[in-house]
Amino acid sequence: MILRDSENSGTFKDVWVLAEFAGGKVHKVTYELLGAAKKLSDKLLRKKSRVVCLVLGEGAGTKAEKFFHYCADVVITVDDSSLKTFNDTVYASVISRLVKKYKPEILISGATSRGRSIMPRVAVLVETGLTADCTGLNIEEGTGLLLQTRPAYGGNIIATIKCEHHRPQMSTVRQGVFKAPVPDNSGTGEVIEEIVLEAEKKTRISVIEESFGEDKGINLSDADIIVTGGRGVKGPKGFDMIAELAQALKGAVGASRAAVDSGWISYTHQVGQTGRTVQPKIYIACGVSGQIQHLTGMQSSGFIIAINKDAEAPIMKLADVAVVGDLFEVIPEIIKLLKSG
Ligand SMILES: Cc1cc2nc3c(=O)[nH]c(=O)nc-3n(C[C@H](O)[C@H](O)[C@H](O)COP(=O)(O)OP(=O)(O)OC[C@H]3O[C@@H](n4cnc5c(N)ncnc54)[C@H](O)[C@@H]3O)c2cc1C
Repeated sequence: MILRDSENSGTFKDVWVLAEFAGGKVHKVTYELLGAAKKLSDKLLRKKSRVVCLVLGEGAGTKAEKFFHYCADVVITVDDSSLKTFNDTVYASVISRLVKKYKPEILISGATSRGRSIMPRVAVLVETGLTADCTGLNIEEGTGLLLQTRPAYGGNIIATIKCEHHRPQMSTVRQGVFKAPVPDNSGTGEVIEEIVLEAEKKTRISVIEESFGEDKGINLSDADIIVTGGRGVKGPKGFDMIAELAQALKGAVGASRAAVDSGWISYTHQVGQTGRTVQPKIYIACGVSGQIQHLTGMQSSGFIIAINKDAEAPIMKLADVAVVGDLFEVIPEIIKLLKSG
């Protein structure tokens, strides 16, 4: 069954968010997307569009209430022991059946490793399009179509993509692109319990073990303060200084791709289009020029400080405070001040 909506007829409604639920925990991106879904739903021409949160996994049923606090009007739960470990073919089969049954107009998920694995499978099964790694979502005035924004051609252009004739309109969005709404603990709604069909449990993939890795103490996505080093720090020793500043500020260490590609620091620290998207309260860019691929990953930060010896570097134009100087002189002074205070 192909889900087409060539006349934009109104058969398809509601904005769905696929919750990320793993190891008994809900991933933060789910709340961010519920907030975004609420804004989209409010803008849709059809007045009765609702925010629907779809959550799969063993124990998923216990999480419904929390989603109501974050703008969900309806929560569809699929709580089954067969979903205890993550198997993308099983998840995709269940989700695509539910999509065919309820006909959502829009389906979004986090661009996490799970989202990136499930969503293309679902898009194929329901024969619709998918825009991956969106950095913006909006509703087009007049048509009510989803405008999906993402960098293209190596970040040189920002493309806006529409899916006019097939439904649902599907996107994955990186963590940190949208802000999670302030929870409203009085929020409530309808819970729909769905099941996994026996046929959907049949899969050629067997999961032997599932483990949830720690980020070695650096959680860039959750950090309030990030100190990032670029090519200007000149080597691994320069990153010791960046780490010292980050530690003094109780922040995390970020890096530009140039620094990562040079082997000065590991990829887990990379900020940007092919690294993490971050949204800290304070972002300090040291020896980073601010190419578009880097800015894509940090431009929504609350307050940006750039330290660069080139006053004309693009990052200096974006920064709230631009310090023109040699980082090897400026940073030790800041560390000294922080330690003395
Ligand atoms: C498809 C694609 C994806 C990409 N993804 C990413 C990504 O995810 N993240 C990312 O960061 N990049 C990414 N890039 C690379 C990006 O285009 C840039 O090459 C990279 O961001 C440059 O890193 P940089 O700013 O550290 O280095 P440079 O551009 O070389 O800038 C170094 C800066 O340091 C300053 N400097 C030098 N010495 C000092 C000093 N002593 N004191 C103060 N300042 C000094 C210089 O003035 C300069 O502005 C991607 C590129 C492509 C094509």
